[in-house]
Amino acid sequence: MTVRFWGVRGSSPTPLCPEELRNRFAAIFQRVRPGHLHSPETRQRFLSKLPAELFGTVGGNTACIELRTNENITIIFDTGTGLRDLEQRIKKTRESIDEYHIFLSHFHYDHLLGLPYFGPMYDPQGRVTFYSPFPAMEQNLKKFMVAPFHPVGWDSFAAEIRFITLQKDEVLTLGGAEIEWIHRNHPNGCSSYKVSESGKSFIYSTDTELTEKDFQRTQKNVDYFQDVDAIVLDTQYTLGEAIEKYNWGHSSYSLAVEFVREFGIRRLYLFHHDPLNSDATMEDILKSAQLFDKRLEHKNAKSLIIDLAREGYTLEL
Ligand SMILES: [Zn+2]
Ligand SMILES: [Zn+2]
Repeated sequence: MTVRFWGVRGSSPTPLCPEELRNRFAAIFQRVRPGHLHSPETRQRFLSKLPAELFGTVGGNTACIELRTNENITIIFDTGTGLRDLEQRIKKTRESIDEYHIFLSHFHYDHLLGLPYFGPMYDPQGRVTFYSPFPAMEQNLKKFMVAPFHPVGWDSFAAEIRFITLQKDEVLTLGGAEIEWIHRNHPNGCSSYKVSESGKSFIYSTDTELTEKDFQRTQKNVDYFQDVDAIVLDTQYTLGEAIEKYNWGHSSYSLAVEFVREFGIRRLYLFHHDPLNSDATMEDILKSAQLFDKRLEHKNAKSLIIDLAREGYTLEL
């Protein structure tokens, strides 16, 4: 399977502001030496050696992750503002998609904001299926697109739209991929999804406040989390913020590291980045998470890759 990150921020979109851009250019120019400008190759080498926070960005769009199964079935987790970039890429490549399978974690704005602008919803040839265990999914989505909050209502969508309410312990099959879900601890509720295919597995677990219960090695937790190849996990807070914002529904990166170690998960992508955190802060958080992991005494000594979920990143499993 292939996973692409289109939106990785939480709460609200976080575009790069002009002041930040000016500061970056100033910092880059300070580092330039005449030798760096010598040829296209030296210029390229100079740019590639710049710190990630100067020559790149984790991204400013809110939650949207695309997963292509081995049979190229298109699964989308959440329809935050990253959905627009996903659509642009599909337009550019002129790929024709038979059906979009959209799995919604919950209905907070940061996970829905891209949906009213998603072209395939207005296409009479389009086919879009929404999945969620929330029985009120259809009503919630329709309520989200009403005047005066949006100029056109749900009726303006021309695509063939289906809603599938997932049942407790249901394992859904799409081609050769199996999709499971569990509830997450978050205000108004949230669902995590797991996709397994050809011996590989991926979990999307946004908006999750990890609790003691998650660390218990119950059969359910073990079946869902043990030895998963990659997890995208909400780590909006530092440990201090998580204590201060207890019950706000998000986790700290340190708890997330302990959690993935407990279940032998192989890759952790820190996700739902706080809109107040700059790219430089995010890179610091990543270093702290990696350092924290090194300092833990691991009963599970398998290698763990920790990275930031970065817009535009592609993960092959
Ligand atoms: Zn959120
Ligand atoms: Zn939320």
